[in-house]
Amino acid sequence: MPTSICPECTEEVFVDAEIEQGDSVSCDECSAKLVVVGLDPIELDLYDEAGEEGLAIEDDFHTYGYDDN
Ligand SMILES: [Zn+2]
Repeated sequence: MPTSICPECTEEVFVDAEIEQGDSVSCDECSAKLVVVGLDPIELDLYDEAGEEGLAIEDDFHTYGYDDN
């Protein structure tokens, strides 16, 4: 089974042999949610749900909509 290194805790993470770029995995050690960014070798990056500014702005609008003033 292939392994990669968790960017959060630097422990080895086991990944599925048929994993594909863009797939998400989670670290057994620190439970971080990771995304596959490279396959040869397998590279993992932290999966950041609010990583894009566009999404953050959308979230602001969402919050504004729920303002029960
Ligand atoms: Zn980890």
